[in-house]
Amino acid sequence: MNLILFGPPGAGKGTQSELLIKRMNMRQISTGDLFRAAIKNQTPLGQEAKGYLDAGKLVPDSVTIGLVREVLSQLKGQSFILDGFPRNVAQAEALEKLLKDLNLKVERSLFLEVPLDELLSRLAGRRVCKNCGAVYHARSKPPKQDGVCDACAGPVIQRPDDKEEVVRTRLETYEASTKPLKDYYKANGLYVEVIGLGTSEEVYERISKALQVKAH
Ligand code: AMP
Repeated sequence: MNLILFGPPGAGKGTQSELLIKRMNMRQISTGDLFRAAIKNQTPLGQEAKGYLDAGKLVPDSVTIGLVREVLSQLKGQSFILDGFPRNVAQAEALEKLLKDLNLKVERSLFLEVPLDELLSRLAGRRVCKNCGAVYHARSKPPKQDGVCDACAGPVIQRPDDKEEVVRTRLETYEASTKPLKDYYKANGLYVEVIGLGTSEEVYERISKALQVKAH
């Protein structure tokens, strides 16, 4: 099954994608992760994207769609989760065309719903390993040793775009650009919605159930 996972920043898309790829043998395509890797490696794509990520704004559609086209063309038949793409209706339309060109099909577009106050607390407390990307929370899931990743001993930091001023812009961008995708996917029958509250295992359980039922 090929899947689109979308929702506000901090809804848990990355965490759930990780569980899905491990347990359902899928490939995660996270545009956010791809941009961050390009910035870390100082590639031309990274140089182009950096200012937008730092400001919490969307990277221009032409760049983002080009990136997704490249990754989708190299899949070799593996099922995939699109995590963080599409993020607006123009990207969703471009994706439809891209899928048609590559003879691929998405079966579900899954929306992770989390209330605003919870998102704010998650984003403010989110910490990530700079090295391997493992996700922590300053209060609810700190690493065993302060600032050191449990998995790889890399430095645990706050993502620059999780700082309060940038979070505000990201949430505004989400409201204006990404939320309208709900209606887009409801109209074409791919839409399923899951409440992203509770432990990651509880949310995963809801997602697996939701993927078995017919989309509406
Ligand atoms: P994320 O890790 O999904 O929260 O994405 C982090 C940042 O990467 C976003 O705030 C945007 O600047 C950029 N980004 C990720 N996905 C997209 C997309 N589909 N379109 C444009 N910009 C994106």
